[in-house]
Amino acid sequence: MIFYEIECLTCKQRVRIEEGTKLYKQYKENPNERRMCQDCVEKIERDAKKQLMG
Ligand SMILES: [Zn+2]
Repeated sequence: MIFYEIECLTCKQRVRIEEGTKLYKQYKENPNERRMCQDCVEKIERDAKKQLMG
């Protein structure tokens, strides 16, 4: 299994990016972009939706 390890920008947890995942694809396309773990990404998406609704 190929994977990279990054530090989440928001919660500072170490995150393992495994081959075949969405994060891995994003990482390969743009390795220097700031990264967040899946939990934080989902949290931000939820917050964004809440704001949209109101
Ligand atoms: Zn995080």
